Amino acid sequence: MDEFEAIARLFRPLSEGAPEAFGLSDDAAALPPRPGFDLVVTKDAVVEGVHFLPGDPPGLVARKLLRVNLSDLAAKGAEPYGYFLAVSWPAHWGDEAKTAFAAGLAQDQAEFGVRLLGGDTTSTPGPFTASVTMMGWVPSGRMLRRSGAKPGQALLVTGTIGDGALGLLAAQGELAALGDERRAALADRYRLPRPRLALREGLLAHASACLDVSDGLIGDVIHMEEASGVAIQIDLERLPLSEAARAFVERCSDPVAALAELATAGDDYELAIAASIPEAMMLAVAAAEADIPLTPIGRIAEGTGTLVLHKGQPVLLTRTGWKH
Ligand code: ADP
Ligand code: MG
Repeated sequence: MDEFEAIARLFRPLSEGAPEAFGLSDDAAALPPRPGFDLVVTKDAVVEGVHFLPGDPPGLVARKLLRVNLSDLAAKGAEPYGYFLAVSWPAHWGDEAKTAFAAGLAQDQAEFGVRLLGGDTTSTPGPFTASVTMMGWVPSGRMLRRSGAKPGQALLVTGTIGDGALGLLAAQGELAALGDERRAALADRYRLPRPRLALREGLLAHASACLDVSDGLIGDVIHMEEASGVAIQIDLERLPLSEAARAFVERCSDPVAALAELATAGDDYELAIAASIPEAMMLAVAAAEADIPLTPIGRIAEGTGTLVLHKGQPVLLTRTGWKH
């Protein structure tokens, strides 16, 4: 399949239902504005060997690529609309792998209601690389910011923390002591993030600040602290853990260090949220209705700095997150 065949056979069907993409047959798409809304735009890339393991199924790579971008939209309270895709095929990706990649895109397009609107296709002598520019709509001026946290508010987090990082280890054949079932569950969390889009209306109604937790909870909370000009305290013993992550922590000689490790590891794709106590309670109702776990893990205070506590005692951290 050459470049033009790939566009026609693999990608054109993914633009069906989006007349603004002209069937991917023009130089560009023309996107009509939606009155009363802002277009929220975000971009994330995946590189073979960095964001996924060589040999991971191409369909899952495609779905993770869409989902890491959709998680940013979820954090901003935006409703998914459509995306642009740049893909660079290495020689070792044959037609079968390319077709499976497109099938993965199709599967998650249907699940999340987005369409492919354009992009670029090249070959590369390097590893497989792809990036998505994802767009969503939010009522004008209402995009949730990192900067909205205020003293007196609660800090909450969706889902569970640490499964992505443990899942990478499991996918690499480690963590044998946890048993196959837990290792499979963790690897699944690494390969297929769950963007928390079902919480969108609750977040727009009740959250003061929100950000995507992708590079380690604590490092990402520091971004909120700095953007908001506040102090944040995190209670490590409240960290929401999956059954498999709890089993991992229990097997560590220093469980507090293990918790800190999970709170600084990447690939969670959960949301960290600041909300006043009454708003947090209403958000908890919305989260329960959406079947999304929501856990208070700390508080916002006057001042600066992020303090990590375990049962009231300060925890010394050796690192705060994943940096490329
Ligand atoms: P150009 O010569 O300007 O690079 P292309 O021939 O690459 O144009 O692209 C032709 C059309 O195909 C454009 O509408 C472009 O958006 C679309 N396209 C190319 N690659 C992709 C892709 N990976 N995903 C979606 N659309 C694509
Ligand atoms: Mg091109």
